[in-house]
Amino acid sequence: MKGFDVVIIGGGLSGSATALHLSKKGYSVLIIEREKFQEYKPCAGGMASSMQRFLPLDIEDSIESKIKNVEFRWKASDNVVADLTGESPFWIVKREKLDQLLLNESLRNGSQIIRPVLVEEITKKNDKWEIICNNKTKYISEFLVIADGSQSKWAGYFKLGPRKPKFAKTISLRLKGLGGIPQDAVRFEFGFIKYGFAWAFPLKESLNIGLGTFINNGSLENQPLNNEVIKSFGFDDFHYQTVNKKLRIWNGIHPINVDKVLVVGDAASLCDPFLAEGIRPSLMSSFYAAECIDLFLSGEIDDLNLYSQKINDNWGKSMAWGRRIAQVFYRFPRTGYQLGVKRKTAPKRIAQILSGEMSYEDIAKRVIRRLLTKSET
Ligand SMILES: Cc1cc2nc3c(=O)[nH]c(=O)nc-3n(C[C@H](O)[C@H](O)[C@H](O)COP(=O)(O)OP(=O)(O)OC[C@H]3O[C@@H](n4cnc5c(N)ncnc54)[C@H](O)[C@@H]3O)c2cc1C
Repeated sequence: MKGFDVVIIGGGLSGSATALHLSKKGYSVLIIEREKFQEYKPCAGGMASSMQRFLPLDIEDSIESKIKNVEFRWKASDNVVADLTGESPFWIVKREKLDQLLLNESLRNGSQIIRPVLVEEITKKNDKWEIICNNKTKYISEFLVIADGSQSKWAGYFKLGPRKPKFAKTISLRLKGLGGIPQDAVRFEFGFIKYGFAWAFPLKESLNIGLGTFINNGSLENQPLNNEVIKSFGFDDFHYQTVNKKLRIWNGIHPINVDKVLVVGDAASLCDPFLAEGIRPSLMSSFYAAECIDLFLSGEIDDLNLYSQKINDNWGKSMAWGRRIAQVFYRFPRTGYQLGVKRKTAPKRIAQILSGEMSYEDIAKRVIRRLLTKSET
């Protein structure tokens, strides 16, 4: 039997980032991870550089591209380019490297990890969590952080996040070479994928390609169409292996903490329902989770409700608008593309969303203000 301040279930991005913050503050942390090792992470790796502020270490080693332009296309034509002004505000990281970087640093600070291990039972005794794993060991912990990703088993067990989670379907692959995508640009391809889009994000020597469908349970099982999309990124002759993943997306404001338990990242259903941005809310939720546990252990707060409140204020309010935008945009994609991409100021706005300068809420407020001023004149 071993005792810890915090046990974290899941050692992906959110789990490792939470462990890093907590171990830096001097707490004892155990990560329980299901997989032995993950060679390939199905994630395109696009993140706003401003998110560095949620990390206590420099992540330069994991950055493979610094993005200057965002390209939008409708069925492989109609090239619209948004210039990302400012000092490389959008980065492409290799997720395997980023996760490892955070994990290694947290281990250096004293965190421990056990893998491959599965949690079998969690119970509360004497105000502490008892966690029994399939390695037949029992771990005792003051706090529990659930970071087991989109297929989370434990968020539902503690009734955290939406009762009925919503999922985007995704297919991802990595091809050698960059095809026709410049090293400093990302491409969003609309019109091919029903209820969604495709994307191409460049690493140093390969391209992360993804296809996603966000509403109406759309299908991605059309191989000839998928090949056409991949060709549109500038590849003629290609062999590829795909990973299918259901990505748990934001679906309303719900409690994401309960008695000494917090849920972070995808397990908390924080992923952007319009553009599948999940790195930002993972880093944000890990940061606030560690901060709230620290405040609790320092005696400054006596419950963790501040955590749910911070995430809802800093992320949920924007996602409520992101979900509305997704529902309209993907239902009427041609009109959505005309209004959302072809409008003179639209590409700049999307670039500002990606770089974290603006939220969906800011954009929605502007549109409403514009409509109000128009109706008054
Ligand atoms: C195709 C695709 C492309 C994407 N592209 C982007 C992008 O460009 N930019 C962006 O911001 N976001 C992107 N995302 C979203 C982003 O990848 C996720 O939001 C992010 O990985 C969430 O991190 P996480 O740590 O919460 O979950 P994960 O990274 O999934 O980690 C969960 C961890 O928990 C472990 N685990 C699972 N179950 C258990 C269990 N029962 N016990 C113990 N361990 C368990 C898993 O093995 C894993 O290590 C993309 C997602 C997909 C699917």
